[in-house]
Amino acid sequence: MSDVLDRFLRYVQYDTQSDEQSTTYPSTEKQLVLLRDLAAELRAFGLTDASIDENGYVTAMIPATTGKPNVPTIGFIAHVDTSPEMSGAGVKPIVHRAYDGRDLVLPDDPNAVLRARDIPELADHIGHDIVTASGTTLLGADDKAGVAEIMAAAAYLAAHPEIPHGPVKVAFNPDEEVGRGVIHFPVNAFGAVAAYTVDGTGAGEVQSETFSGAQVRMYIRGRSIHPGLAKGELVNAIKLAAAIIEKLPKDARSPETTEDREGYVHPVVISGDSSEVELRFIVRDFENDLLDEHVEFLGDRPRGCGHRRALLDRGRVAHSVPQHARCPRVAPGDRREPRGGRPPHRHRAEAIVDPRWHRRFSTHRDGPADPEHLHGRPRRPQRARVDLH
Ligand SMILES: [Zn+2]
Repeated sequence: MSDVLDRFLRYVQYDTQSDEQSTTYPSTEKQLVLLRDLAAELRAFGLTDASIDENGYVTAMIPATTGKPNVPTIGFIAHVDTSPEMSGAGVKPIVHRAYDGRDLVLPDDPNAVLRARDIPELADHIGHDIVTASGTTLLGADDKAGVAEIMAAAAYLAAHPEIPHGPVKVAFNPDEEVGRGVIHFPVNAFGAVAAYTVDGTGAGEVQSETFSGAQVRMYIRGRSIHPGLAKGELVNAIKLAAAIIEKLPKDARSPETTEDREGYVHPVVISGDSSEVELRFIVRDFENDLLDEHVEFLGDRPRGCGHRRALLDRGRVAHSVPQHARCPRVAPGDRREPRGGRPPHRHRAEAIVDPRWHRRFSTHRDGPADPEHLHGRPRRPQRARVDLH
């Protein structure tokens, strides 16, 4: 038990933040520092095949001790990176021993107080030791906690061959937080019939399936013309975007109106000006067919907003990649949260920028529309356009 805490307190001090803007793999070099050290620690346990591959994936085998034939290999996986949303540098973990129900004050930021009345989950941990950050950084428990648990278990099993078990593989990967954690995973070389990701919301919960996700980017171009000359010519991209959003259903297909295994489309970013607006949506479903249907649905929204339906470019259809689990079934007992309660563990889906996840569409009512200067008439009549990427 102390080993897992010691490991956790040590691993969180590695800055392993991933970067959604990066085009390298892993997205940040600093993730490799921890990954290389994990491989070295696994070798020090006596796991001689522990290695790190060219993409940064660390794997190791804990050989079987049962002596029984044909025992299947199972795996345990955790990611080393932490979210791009908050700094992972200079993490100072604080252990609050034997929690007694008080508010937890984080000393480096006077405004950072974990209030028991705001966080009902804290009441489940009275008497436990709680680890927090110091107030100015992410702690990185997601998923250094999983890393520490797997490493401590591997160390224990390697040191205790008298415990009977089949072959066990462990793996650590980069870039989960930016949606690319599985892209280069060496599935065949890993060789497990099943593997468990040690990452999630709370103790005692098993997430048994995962949704598939896609991101849709919709670029809306209007026609920018000096307002003084605008009659019959100007098309305001902001108004087109508002019309498209207004056409989303009010009582379905949204995270705020659905639950359990129901999928949704969810606008997460709107940016731009009267000449051009980007709308970004995330799409989720547990069924790949329904995921595709949601994407088609979004492609239909521009219809009637001054555009024909956005056309799906079949040559650029993205595949959807299963990502973090949303859990409709939990065990033991039914700890499912009531509606309006704690949201399920979901990774920041808006951080997904892998172009393989993007759906590309385009619709041109009448050829391309170049951005126009605010002064003067366009050189030729142009129509507004919507591109969905
Ligand atoms: Zn995670």
